[in-house]
Amino acid sequence: MRLVLLGPPGAGKGTQAKVLSQTYAIPHISTGDILREAVKNNAPVGKKAKAYMDKGELVPDDVVNQIVVERIGEDDAARGFILDGFPRTRVQAQRLDESLGELGIALDLVLYFETSNRVAIARLSGRRVCRKCGANFHITNIPPKVNGVCDHCGGELYQRPDDSEETVKNRLVVYEQQTKELVEYYRGKGLLRTVSGDLDVQEVFVILSKMFKDEGLV
Ligand code: AMP
Repeated sequence: MRLVLLGPPGAGKGTQAKVLSQTYAIPHISTGDILREAVKNNAPVGKKAKAYMDKGELVPDDVVNQIVVERIGEDDAARGFILDGFPRTRVQAQRLDESLGELGIALDLVLYFETSNRVAIARLSGRRVCRKCGANFHITNIPPKVNGVCDHCGGELYQRPDDSEETVKNRLVVYEQQTKELVEYYRGKGLLRTVSGDLDVQEVFVILSKMFKDEGLV
């Protein structure tokens, strides 16, 4: 199953992608996660990306395109993948089409997480992430057992710098300006399916599981 998850920051794409990835045993490919790892390791890609990420701006297309083209060609993606946070621009969407064409494969569905600004902002501002294993928590929706400590590995929880109020506002503006047009792009290709990103993770999972069955994907 080859999926793209589309929607604003705070739509719950990453959380849902993790559940889908485990359920269907296909990799979750998050360009945001890959870029954050590169920044943490001071890798060349991270050096190029950091200033954009800190401001909530998009990293240049050629940088992210290369990451994704390489990643979807890896062995574990042969059975399928879940793209989360990519594509974010028309240029990226076109590059993705090209590289899938070169591999002789195609997307099955693009899931659009239609989400209100109120819910997105509440999710992002309360999000806490484990420094060590990357697990996501939320101060009210998914609180850790011990304040500031990861339930899974005991690592320290922190707030992503781009989840600060000012940067969140900019990320939502950037989404409206540069990414939202992809809804029409994929609708035009007949691939778009809409689900409410305001629902909680389990509710969305139930809807998607039924959708995949109805579409003959599982
Ligand atoms: P995310 O974790 O998906 O919210 O991404 C965090 C940040 O990484 C974004 O605000 C961008 O700066 C950068 N980023 C992630 N994916 C992309 C992409 N497909 N195109 C450009 N920038 C991206």
